[in-house]
Amino acid sequence: MTYPSEADLLAKIPTQLFINGEWVDGENEPFVVQDPSTGGELARIANASPAQATAALDAAVAVKDEWARTTPRERGELLRKAYEAVIERRDEFALLMTLEMGKPLNEAQGEVNYGAEYLRWFSEEAARITGRYGINPEGTQRMLVSQHPVGPCFLITPWNFPLAMATRKIAPALAAGNTVVVKPASLTPLTTLYFVKILEELGVPKGVVNVVTTRDTAGVSNTIMEDDRLRKISFTGSTGVGVGLMKRAAEKVLRTSMELGGNAPFVVFEDADMDKAIQGVIDAKFRNIGQACTAANRIIVQESIAEEFTKRVAERVSAFKMGRGTEEGVTIGPLAEAKAVAKVGELVDDAVAHGAKVIVGGKAGEGEGFFYEATVLTDIAPESKIFREEIFGPVLPIITFSDEAEAVELANSTEFGLMSYVYTNDFNRSQRMIDQIECGMVSINTGLPSNAAAPFGGVKQSGMGKEGSFEGIHEYMNMKYSAMPNP
Ligand code: NAD
Repeated sequence: MTYPSEADLLAKIPTQLFINGEWVDGENEPFVVQDPSTGGELARIANASPAQATAALDAAVAVKDEWARTTPRERGELLRKAYEAVIERRDEFALLMTLEMGKPLNEAQGEVNYGAEYLRWFSEEAARITGRYGINPEGTQRMLVSQHPVGPCFLITPWNFPLAMATRKIAPALAAGNTVVVKPASLTPLTTLYFVKILEELGVPKGVVNVVTTRDTAGVSNTIMEDDRLRKISFTGSTGVGVGLMKRAAEKVLRTSMELGGNAPFVVFEDADMDKAIQGVIDAKFRNIGQACTAANRIIVQESIAEEFTKRVAERVSAFKMGRGTEEGVTIGPLAEAKAVAKVGELVDDAVAHGAKVIVGGKAGEGEGFFYEATVLTDIAPESKIFREEIFGPVLPIITFSDEAEAVELANSTEFGLMSYVYTNDFNRSQRMIDQIECGMVSINTGLPSNAAAPFGGVKQSGMGKEGSFEGIHEYMNMKYSAMPNP
């Protein structure tokens, strides 16, 4: 790995909006992107006005038919080249994400692979778009079912996986033949801007991809959502914001994909392989400093093994190194912003007020940057907020259960239903858990399930729709049925 200097890297990242193939200044005062490990300024970014949001949609609308007429192979080849370009610049992307988001460099490297895979996967899926053909039961008509691009899409991404959340939406939208307006999170716009610069270098036609960075999030997004020419919104972020967007989408009967919050149970049965369960919980809890929608949120451990499990997890967590993600050996980087440190602190304090014991950590970091210590809590009362809310930080709360029925009840006692983890060596039990846990994804005996080939998405208040896999491209296509006489 050969990382560029931070200054050299930042100097080559665009800081303007990308509208109709041109880099342009924002009409509002530029906003600052911070380094979360220091709170210092990393970059000043163009701040789009609602009128510029309309200009971005104008551009996407103007070329939508032309782009829809390109061949699947042409679109696939552009995405394939984008995959290769991201992999070639892997060290730059990794460092950029560590700088703007805070995750340790080795995890940022992992995200480059994961995020790039969506480009490769959908470069292949573009050529696999098919329909079906049949004869009606009466034998009088032929029936054709075909797939068509949905139309201009608005893609809103969160800050926690700056590359992967962008490619997971942009790749299937483009592969399906749609044009897009992308609004990256204002905490981490640099990665998306750099990725779109690569698409520009690869010759993506003007207007096909447009990026509006902004601090006037509501103004920009409401303007686009109210426009009759928009056909689809795909959002990844918190449930609260997602609900607001769904209400607006209802006004226009827009196609929607919602990847929202999670509250993943991590269930460990007494028959599990303890070593694997401990590694699994470390991966599923502390990756991305706990800021993943799939992060293990409630560690639900069978009573008979809880003491040993807690002791061994605590030993591992005590050895973590907290610091800037660029430093050698760091496992816990900063949280995304100062507000996040306060929110995690509140959840821990509330749990302690309800009787929880702090086994490791339990407080914010000292000095500059937005740090919170890796924390292990036990004796969690079910009425504590930490049991119900998404933590989004490096806090591992352990809850115990006595039998399988109680494990299922605890796992399901949340309004979310995104990821679940189960550790057991009993195959039949694992299958019962798959059947009974209310969620979109179950991870059996592994803490790292995400893959571009898998249908990612949740149920309940974790959202609707799938990203990745064969299903992912259908989120960006309309199905059309045609009838004709059977001669
Ligand atoms: P967020 O909801 O605050 O922001 C997400 C995006 O929405 C950002 O781009 C933000 O600028 C934008 N936004 C905020 N208010 C808006 C408004 N009124 N109108 C339009 N857009 C608005 O979420 P976040 O803090 O960036 O991300 C963390 C959340 O995302 C967590 O809840 C996490 O679980 C969820 N998440 C879900 C998935 C998934 O696939 N299910 C993946 C990653 C993150």
